[in-house]
Amino acid sequence: MLKFDKLSLNIPETTKPRVVVIGGGFGGINLVKKLKNKGFQIVMFDKQNYHGFWPLLYQVATAGLEPDAIAEPLRKLFDEDYDDFHFRLVRVTGVDPARKVVTTLIGELHYDYLVISTGTKANFFGNEQVQKFSFPLKTIPEALNLRSQLLQSFEQASITRDPVAQESLLNFVIVGGGPTGVEVAGSIAEMRKHVLPGDYPGLDFSRMKIYLIEGLDRVLPPMSPEASKKTHEYLEKMGILIRLNTLVENYDGETVTLKGGEQIRTQTVIWAAGVTGALIDGLPKEVVARGGRLLVDRYNQVEGFPGLFAIGDIALMKTDKYPNGHPGLAQPAIQQGQHLAKNLVRMVRNEKPEEFEYFDKGSLAIIGRSRAVADLPGNVHMGGFLAWVTWLFVHIYYLVGFRSKLIVLSNWAYRLFTYERGTRLIIRPFVRKDDKEAQEFVMKNELG
Ligand SMILES: Cc1cc2nc3c(=O)[nH]c(=O)nc-3n(C[C@H](O)[C@H](O)[C@H](O)COP(=O)(O)OP(=O)(O)OC[C@H]3O[C@@H](n4cnc5c(N)ncnc54)[C@H](O)[C@@H]3O)c2cc1C
Repeated sequence: MLKFDKLSLNIPETTKPRVVVIGGGFGGINLVKKLKNKGFQIVMFDKQNYHGFWPLLYQVATAGLEPDAIAEPLRKLFDEDYDDFHFRLVRVTGVDPARKVVTTLIGELHYDYLVISTGTKANFFGNEQVQKFSFPLKTIPEALNLRSQLLQSFEQASITRDPVAQESLLNFVIVGGGPTGVEVAGSIAEMRKHVLPGDYPGLDFSRMKIYLIEGLDRVLPPMSPEASKKTHEYLEKMGILIRLNTLVENYDGETVTLKGGEQIRTQTVIWAAGVTGALIDGLPKEVVARGGRLLVDRYNQVEGFPGLFAIGDIALMKTDKYPNGHPGLAQPAIQQGQHLAKNLVRMVRNEKPEEFEYFDKGSLAIIGRSRAVADLPGNVHMGGFLAWVTWLFVHIYYLVGFRSKLIVLSNWAYRLFTYERGTRLIIRPFVRKDDKEAQEFVMKNELG
């Protein structure tokens, strides 16, 4: 076993200005691409060794894509063509702005410029019970847990003779009617229609229920009312049971209790209801705003800390047009990363940095086969097939790496004609840590 005190970050000393980037997400990778060979030493820390394309994560969770289709190794993205670039697979635990150092479990590193691009994590609003039993969808391991859980539920439903247990296994509750919740609900509904009856001929899928629970008065609240209305219609047509203005009060692993009293028996609650900033310790609470985001000025500098920047989901930049900050989408992160890179070059040349201006390219959500909605610049709203084709092209265009584009495109084309989902594999069964009985079952049957 490696001992942490025997390890070191092993970053060469340099006379160049050192930029330390925490996070290889949309913000981080676009910053580094634009800083390529511009006279900096660049050090990137991430707790995973890949860049994840989260807009397609739900397809991994619902057996549409394998994880390698949506992930690109960071070392491959920033290969030997990048002079003086250093990646370290490590979690950053703290920052000390007074000494200008970042701390990790295997040592600390001095920075001249620090860019925090750590994104967000799931927010359970302090409800520990819900956190313990539900499935968040923010990382690839979480998506694989959910994929296993979905497939295991059908396997178990097909071998139980207990109608109550079967009901619970065939009920799926998705909490949060934002883009992720809607996309997951739509995708599970498509499985119910096209895939599952063939796989499990003995199961009656008219008994399988998919609930979508939203606290506000419409689905897709970040999008336009037109997009919400269309999406609501599409979801209902697909047989999804929508509860609006409804909050989840509790989930004990067996039953979801909604505020208002309704109870749903289920083994699977998918949590897509909220996120909070993935903060790094060491910054004062004055710079932490609503949603755990870091308050930054128009140059993405954390307020009051020269040389320390935050970009993407973790950053909250208040502007006249966006008084609550930019939306938590890939585009603001990409644009802030690119813009900050240009500003860093300006700063070392003693030129004046420029203020960030967000260019809204619109937003899209997919509900299922041939059904999507789009809000485009100029107050243009689209739905149906045209929006669906737009969604496909935009996602292929922004996917990182030619290999991923090719895999995703071929998977989608295959699925379009066959309705197949080739990745219905339980590679690593999901078993709750405290469920001894299930652990024993998996071990005895050598399932995992
Ligand atoms: C399921 C899902 C679906 C989405 N769908 C869409 C969509 O359809 N369209 C859209 O525009 N946006 C979508 N988003 C939002 C979009 O992915 C984010 O807005 C975007 O990823 C933000 O980029 P970022 O660089 O700020 O953070 P991220 O891309 O999340 O990257 C953060 C990185 O920081 C790393 N990190 C975090 N903490 C530490 C630490 N302490 N030490 C080291 N590394 C750390 C993480 O491992 C990660 O690699 C979706 C998000 C999710 C989760």
